[in-house]
Amino acid sequence: MGSQGDVPRGRLAGKNAIITGGAGGIGLETTVLFLREGASVLITDISEPALIKAMNKAKEIVPYMTGQVATMKCDVTKESDVQAIVERVDEWGGVDVMFNNAGIMHADDDDAVSTPEKIWDLTQNINVKGVWFGSKHAVLSLRKHKKSRGSIINTASVVALVGSATPQLAYTASKGAVLAMTRELAMVHAREGFRFNSLCPAPLNTPLLQDWLGDDQEKRHRREVHFPTGRFGEAIEQANAVLFLASDESSFVNGTDFVVDGGMTKAYTTPEGPPTQAPT
Ligand code: NAD
Repeated sequence: MGSQGDVPRGRLAGKNAIITGGAGGIGLETTVLFLREGASVLITDISEPALIKAMNKAKEIVPYMTGQVATMKCDVTKESDVQAIVERVDEWGGVDVMFNNAGIMHADDDDAVSTPEKIWDLTQNINVKGVWFGSKHAVLSLRKHKKSRGSIINTASVVALVGSATPQLAYTASKGAVLAMTRELAMVHAREGFRFNSLCPAPLNTPLLQDWLGDDQEKRHRREVHFPTGRFGEAIEQANAVLFLASDESSFVNGTDFVVDGGMTKAYTTPEGPPTQAPT
């Protein structure tokens, strides 16, 4: 039995959304939230087993949904795959919201010397080219259906805003490219009513972060202590921001680097870290 929070409020009523990487941490939380708010959602991901699990989770909220839900395999590095997911949503009446969220991060610390070229190329292909393909086909769908508004949200990261001493060079470069690309798309398409914004999450508890940290609790603690909040974020905290950017409530928000980081990028941390207790 659902709680009051399961009742749709309709902030996305009538909108059709595509989420790439939709079976992962941020993608799946966003899917559930979008469905609760009245959207129809096409959950897409490269992993078929993950899509099956995602559909099972989505089915739990069917009684509270007013839109449709479907899954489709999509590797965002393949333009034909991206075109196919958009064509699927064209059958629903065209794309209103595109969340280009699929992304990878190499688990090892990679710097100028140690980054393998293969990892560099794979990371740019998924994290950058995938966002371009998603943006391109979303615009084509919006135009085809003569929509006067559309929201495209591209997942970047705080690493695009501040340097990190634990480098993931290929990842950082890819997320910087997402910010620059999104900003330019926002300018180019503003007069058509199509908004483009970047989401900049700080580290949060999802499989991606878990793969990077492994079971090293000390590594986790060393990083968490430098957060003003003293903790990593949660996927739902990103999903809530994506919901705002997707909805018409953000109709004048365009080209932003939308930072959801618990204050991390504003913090000057001493070697002791920020205070662990509120001042009395
Ligand atoms: P996640 O690993 O849980 O989800 C990512 C999803 O993308 C997975 O389901 C994976 O199967 C899918 N994917 C991978 N390659 C793909 C491809 N080629 N085509 C389609 N799908 C593919 O990770 P997450 O934390 O939910 O990450 C979502 C986004 O958030 C990513 O872009 C990531 O870089 C970004 N991000 C995450 C964090 C964090 O700490 N978790 C911080 C900042 C930014």
